[in-house]
Amino acid sequence: MTWRATILTLFPEMFPGPLGVSLAGRALASGLWALEARDIRASATDKHRSVDDTPAGGGPGMVLRADVLAAAIDATYAAPSAPRLLMSPRGRPLTQSRVRELATGPGALIVCGRFEGVDQRVIEARQLEEVSIGDYVLSGGEIAAMALIDACVRLLPGVMGKAESGAEESFSDSLLEYPHYTRPQIFESLPIPEILTSGDHAKVAAWRRAEAERLTRTRRPDLWVTGQEGRKNTTEG
Ligand code: SAH
Repeated sequence: MTWRATILTLFPEMFPGPLGVSLAGRALASGLWALEARDIRASATDKHRSVDDTPAGGGPGMVLRADVLAAAIDATYAAPSAPRLLMSPRGRPLTQSRVRELATGPGALIVCGRFEGVDQRVIEARQLEEVSIGDYVLSGGEIAAMALIDACVRLLPGVMGKAESGAEESFSDSLLEYPHYTRPQIFESLPIPEILTSGDHAKVAAWRRAEAERLTRTRRPDLWVTGQEGRKNTTEG
């Protein structure tokens, strides 16, 4: 079954956007995954096709109406086992392990908020799982959804070549990736580290591992600590 992203948005014309080029775009064109962007406004019922209203309790901005969004969700077919996600700065921060989980499933139904967000009742009534892409606020969920989809799509079978394999990259084993080098041999008097051109594969692997650990400890002590349990288990087990 083809991995399928079904997006509910007020701006379907934003898709595929950046997902239509390069790795994700080629995979989309060759049918390795499918994308459907649906207009929430198509489910509006009044004559002005309104989708938002002022917040109960007062305050600035507008809120996406529960009835309109629920109708849009109900009118959308998605695989019953596909998670229903709501892009939201209040959600659980997206991680590579959640991305891996999503990529092995049938796809996702992804709701993109706008304005101040969506009416809380629709989150509960349609059991939407709130997902954040980081501790900052975007103007809408579309770019967040694109980030999530891009991260999933590159892991789908056949999308990345063996050469681009994701096995060793950042966050596998809770480590940041080691630094990369390529020609020229000397760049502005900086040479490529000697070990990398030695042809000794074991030494190269050990150097990369040490660099990955050093970078993780210094840049992301949080990741280093959470990853320690898992790393202990792999070296001991
Ligand atoms: N008033 C809200 C922000 C709304 S931003 C608050 O303070 O929490 C409008 C929409 O952009 C949100 O409904 C959500 O869909 C999207 N969005 C903004 N920041 C996001 C983030 N960090 N991760 C995922 N979605 C985000």
